[in-house]
Amino acid sequence: MVVVMQPGVEATDVEAVVERVEAAGGQAFVSRGVSRVIVGLVGDVETFATLDLAGMPGVAQVTRVSTEFKLVSREQHPDRSVVHVRGVPVGPDTVTLIAGPCAVETPEQTLAAARMAQAAGATMLRGGAFKPRTSPYAFQGLGELGLRILADVREETGLPIVTEVLSAHDVAMVAEYADMMQIGTRNMQNFALLQAIGETNVPVMLKRGMNATIQEWLMAAEYIAQRGNLEIVLCERGIRTFETETRNTLDISAVPVVQRLSHLPVIIDPSHSGGRRDLVLPLSRAGLVAGADGIIVDVHPQPELALCDGAQALIGKDLDELATAVTDLTTYMGRSPARRRYRSAG
Ligand code: PEP
Ligand code: MN
Repeated sequence: MVVVMQPGVEATDVEAVVERVEAAGGQAFVSRGVSRVIVGLVGDVETFATLDLAGMPGVAQVTRVSTEFKLVSREQHPDRSVVHVRGVPVGPDTVTLIAGPCAVETPEQTLAAARMAQAAGATMLRGGAFKPRTSPYAFQGLGELGLRILADVREETGLPIVTEVLSAHDVAMVAEYADMMQIGTRNMQNFALLQAIGETNVPVMLKRGMNATIQEWLMAAEYIAQRGNLEIVLCERGIRTFETETRNTLDISAVPVVQRLSHLPVIIDPSHSGGRRDLVLPLSRAGLVAGADGIIVDVHPQPELALCDGAQALIGKDLDELATAVTDLTTYMGRSPARRRYRSAG
């Protein structure tokens, strides 16, 4: 059972809920996010049902759901959610194209990639400043310098930025720059990171762990939600299978399955799943027709010189074809392109 408190609730009202639950022999765990306070109850549900928690001051909602991912479940919230990233929606009525370089390398490269992204219809810029590389000898990213470059390019282009955070220690710093924080496939079950991001009010893109089941993925999202941040976009980026022709296997079925189980938006990453430029277009088409709420793709002005993932970066004719496919399939699916709804300062 979960008690969601009203925004701006008084501490005494939260305390009263905890006391009533404990007096009835239950345990109550309080999670304080920036935007809301959530009290998770452990104990006898039948007893809790007699406590009239819903009628207590400051209580917004009491939910009795059976799944392990209560707050992100569709049982809890039957309408599919829209997450706004600096005014750009990601949700059921739109298709959001996010594009940019795998890694931020230089100001010139990042701006050039952002211009390519924008020309292709993207309304959000991706780019890694902290790179989770399999080899410790590979380019690890520019760190905070990369974040500053992204912020400058946002200033120049108006594109909100999504960038990865690798560690709980970096969350406060990355949150200063990012419009959406990315949790990569290797960190999907880094619970300290999930909780730290859950305590901010910055939207988050949670990639599916390459070895994770859908249930595990949704429980990871629940860790973020439980700390009060429900601005979560899920990203299917391929899972490990026995197949070696592709880097990973994009699990198209995850899109409708997750949309049935959870109210959170789901996008796909056809670049990191296939790991090959020639697969980005067919995988994007498949994902959009399966109902994805958006796609995130790598672009690079000089893929042959890219410090990371050049083999999958789009340029030229391939990017033009992707742009056309996204436009056509957005209409085909009865959606509209995700345009920024307001301009905010900075
Ligand atoms: C990325 O998007 O830059 C990335 C590293 O992706 P993934 O975590 O899916 O490998
Ligand atoms: Mn990459």
